[in-house]
Amino acid sequence: MFVSAQEMIKKAANGGYAVGQFNIDNLEWTKAILLTAQEQNSPVILGVGPRAAVFMGGYRTVARMAAGLMEDLEITVPVALHLDHGNFEAAKACIKAGFSSVMYDGSKDAFDVNVENTKNLAFVCSMYGISLEAEVGAIGGAEEGIVAEGEFADPEQCRIISQLGITMLAAGIGNIHGQYPENWPGLSFDTLEQIRKAVGKEIPLVLHGGTGIPDDQVRKAISMGVAKVNVNTECMLAFQKALHDYIMAGKDVKGFTPFEMFAPGLEAIRQTVREKMELFGSVGMA
Ligand SMILES: [Zn+2]
Repeated sequence: MFVSAQEMIKKAANGGYAVGQFNIDNLEWTKAILLTAQEQNSPVILGVGPRAAVFMGGYRTVARMAAGLMEDLEITVPVALHLDHGNFEAAKACIKAGFSSVMYDGSKDAFDVNVENTKNLAFVCSMYGISLEAEVGAIGGAEEGIVAEGEFADPEQCRIISQLGITMLAAGIGNIHGQYPENWPGLSFDTLEQIRKAVGKEIPLVLHGGTGIPDDQVRKAISMGVAKVNVNTECMLAFQKALHDYIMAGKDVKGFTPFEMFAPGLEAIRQTVREKMELFGSVGMA
């Protein structure tokens, strides 16, 4: 069954590596990520965005589908089922549906509302043994309808949120969701350093918008206290390209069943997840 992300993230923070959160959009995604985590003997976090959950039918459907795959595929590595960028209501719905981890994104709310909701959810999550990710400040780009200009988190706000009983903290350090513009100046390690100092070692940091950040910057961020990195767009691009190539090559004329047509896409996701787990250093850490 799913485990809270608490232990795997603490272990990663202490071991100087990061656990990947890979977002799921359907059964094929979930299967590809679970199989790769098992093959790489790596802990993994399945991320579920609210819109992706609606697409799949709802939070309960997602939880039961993922649980069924865990059993049928005999997955034994630690797996957390995690709500990505949820509001207060979504977080509560996921806790009820059987998720083992939630992110409450109060970064668009007034700061005192963010504090209040984070505090309330931290209390509920601690009762159920569920890990909680909180967010301060806007992180750039477009994901789940959230758009921002690559803002930076305020270290003092990070310090306040980090003391509310949360498991981990997402904070903007110049990262952007989706694809990065060509003139993107890179991650701000000064901001990361300030946040690290303000928050202290007890609360690991989360890097969102992991697609398109150069590998050396990801490694440096991990060495500075990032223990979870979110990947979403990269798997989508890999899947889309593999499926596109399959159809453009005319292979869909004979291999038109879904399991033949989606097979190259699945393999493309697996390859992406493999590369990310290696980069994050989580291979063999289950
Ligand atoms: Zn995100």
